[in-house]
Amino acid sequence: MNTNCSHCNYKATNHETLAGATKPNEGDVSFCINCGEVNKFKDGILLPVNMEFLDEKTKTELNDIRIAWLKMRAMRSAK
Ligand SMILES: [Zn+2]
Repeated sequence: MNTNCSHCNYKATNHETLAGATKPNEGDVSFCINCGEVNKFKDGILLPVNMEFLDEKTKTELNDIRIAWLKMRAMRSAK
């Protein structure tokens, strides 16, 4: 399954969701590894998500993912 990030148009072929599933389910929240933005899977496409409307648990999980992602990018760019 191919999905495009609604923020940067990055094409993800193997989607990683918070639930750890390889295929996104309706309403799943996904993190774009290219731009670091958050999308929601709906009707077969990714739509932008306003973080303010997510529950606290999801926000905390996404923040943890974003921190790890930023560290990874920082290490890569330092090489
Ligand atoms: Zn993106």
